[in-house]
Amino acid sequence: MRDFTPETYKLLLKSFLKQNYNFQSFIDFFTNAKSRTVILRHDVDARKMNSLLFAQLENKFGIKGTYYFRITPESFDENIIKQIYDLGHEIGYHYEDVSLIAKTRSIFNVQRYNTNRDKALLIKASIDSFSKNLAKLRRIVPVETVCMHGSPLSKWDNRLLWKYYNYRDFGIKGEPYFDTDFGEVFYLTDTGRRWDGEAFSVRDKTTRKETNKTSGTEAIKGGNSLHSTFDIINALKENRLPEKIMLTVHPQRWDSRPLVWFRELIWQNVKNIVKGTLVKIQNDKL
Ligand SMILES: [Zn+2]
Repeated sequence: MRDFTPETYKLLLKSFLKQNYNFQSFIDFFTNAKSRTVILRHDVDARKMNSLLFAQLENKFGIKGTYYFRITPESFDENIIKQIYDLGHEIGYHYEDVSLIAKTRSIFNVQRYNTNRDKALLIKASIDSFSKNLAKLRRIVPVETVCMHGSPLSKWDNRLLWKYYNYRDFGIKGEPYFDTDFGEVFYLTDTGRRWDGEAFSVRDKTTRKETNKTSGTEAIKGGNSLHSTFDIINALKENRLPEKIMLTVHPQRWDSRPLVWFRELIWQNVKNIVKGTLVKIQNDKL
């Protein structure tokens, strides 16, 4: 059986259910966390039809999660957003306003954002963009949480906004990267098309060093690291996973069509090499 196909994902969900895990959206967990639970988060980065299929599949199992939509055309789709919401899932905004604004302006060569004044202009334009885009999404469905898009190829971290502004002032109750206690919640993400790809991720990582006591191999009883989805399934069978888990999936990576599946495999490997280099450059700067 191939990994990263909807069939394998189905098996993963079944394995969690068999071990009596609950599934919760981020807002549901935030307001009323269950004791043995998976916070099911989807980042709709691209290929949005895959997300709709995932939402339908989860609905069949009685599972609810959160779908974070970007504002860009490869993600944002009123019809799909409505359908996923109607299946009982939470919809959130997958914001990337800082990197988008920085990109647009530098294409037109207006700003390079090298001075403090330029940076202040960037932040102001970005928060206006955030507010406008959030309103656009809210015209379709209610939105209570937002989550940053990693924008690995941009030098800008989209969370920069919250150094100067507070998302609560926009009626937002939570942001997974800020409002999750990763000392308690074990973080699993398919970033890099593998489950142990933190080394390749520029921004999709927890601040493990300080707080993430239950993350990493030390949290998994028996020690083995989780590389493939089948490793997770096996760890579940042996009841080696912690009580609280945040599971982040990118449905565009999960495809049974051989050509798409193969392209995604190759593309992710190339991206991992580039991102590995970026992480190294960033670490060297520190
Ligand atoms: Zn993303």
